[in-house]
Amino acid sequence: MSLCTDVAATFTSRLGLSADGVWSAPGRVNLIGEHTDYNAGLCLPIALPQRTYVAARRRLDRRLRLWSGQADEPVDVQLDEVAPGHPGGWGSYVSGVLWALEEVGHPVGGLDLVVDSEVPVGAGLSSSAALECAVASAVADLFELDLTADDGGRAALAAVCVNAENTIAQAPTGGMDQAAAMRSREGHALLLDCRDGSVEHVPFEPETRGLALLVVDTRAEHSLVDGQYAERRASCEQAARELGVTSLREVPAEQLQEALTRLDDPVVRARTRHVVSEIARVEQSVEALRRWRIRELGEIFDASHASMRDDFEISCPELDLAVDTARAHGAVGARMTGGGFGGSAIALVPWGDEDEVGEAVVEAFEDAGFRTPRYFAVDASGPAGRDA
Ligand code: ADP
Ligand code: MG
Repeated sequence: MSLCTDVAATFTSRLGLSADGVWSAPGRVNLIGEHTDYNAGLCLPIALPQRTYVAARRRLDRRLRLWSGQADEPVDVQLDEVAPGHPGGWGSYVSGVLWALEEVGHPVGGLDLVVDSEVPVGAGLSSSAALECAVASAVADLFELDLTADDGGRAALAAVCVNAENTIAQAPTGGMDQAAAMRSREGHALLLDCRDGSVEHVPFEPETRGLALLVVDTRAEHSLVDGQYAERRASCEQAARELGVTSLREVPAEQLQEALTRLDDPVVRARTRHVVSEIARVEQSVEALRRWRIRELGEIFDASHASMRDDFEISCPELDLAVDTARAHGAVGARMTGGGFGGSAIALVPWGDEDEVGEAVVEAFEDAGFRTPRYFAVDASGPAGRDA
């Protein structure tokens, strides 16, 4: 809770007035179901204990004044000047939320807002959605939009945040991150069906089964990431077109082999194999989780990593090394998570072995000459909301 108190204190010392309140939203890590969201598929994220906090005060005009503990420059922009690419930088993620709310007919206004966060930025743990969703919760409450009380309202807010990120921040994002931040439940993974936006809450408390979920932030940064994301999306759309379906979700796993024979391009074939098999692996994981068949879940994680490495080609040497090392040191299963080309990996490890496995990864990175990774164990935490 201390960051919550800190951000309120920072607000007061900057503005000489107290904030109307403090809101927060979590980062997320996806258990399984990668690059499935834009294929109308399934994914299974959990909300992280790490959160982004905002202290905010409503203004009577339409000016937005924004500060963040994670950004050097404050932002000062009129709401009516917010547009694709403007104000640019981190201010687009915040002001885009207000812009996107007005796009769907919710009148809002100016704000003074201070951000502080414990979600690692750019680690594939979705600091961007944590920021958007914390802001969306604040704005919804401050302007009395009646969108935070039930899952329908929260789903609408998540969609607003996706639009803010796509249109104003001009970053491609498929919808999983914002759903995880807005709609998760503590102690549960969120089974999100991206075809219709429906969710199910699947109990996920590894510690009750003698396990821990370890996140390894590889801190690997690779260029060309955006181009790669667009290329993968385009391949999936091409496959769907050639197969005569609206999305790859419409290809059942049992018909995958037959579908592959109808695709000429070997790369498009491999991309399709990943997406269709990954959606099936999400379903298998949910089954394994409901019965707590841990060994099975581990095998599914491993198969998912191989599929992303070999067929979707979104892994990188750091992610592969993190996954292989975790497994060699007792992880039941491990896989890269998030968009790829860097970011984080997850490993299900025996409870109590988190540091041993984490240190083994640190050592392996040192031997390989990679940047020192960070690691931490996480629980499935709660969604965006008001803290004070
Ligand atoms: P991630 O995987 O962390 O979501 P993104 O590239 O999608 O990575 O989003 C990171 C961007 O989001 C940052 O470059 C910054 O513009 C914005 N951002 C996220 N968290 C904060 C924060 N606490 N303060 C300011 N900007 C933030
Ligand atoms: Mg992001």
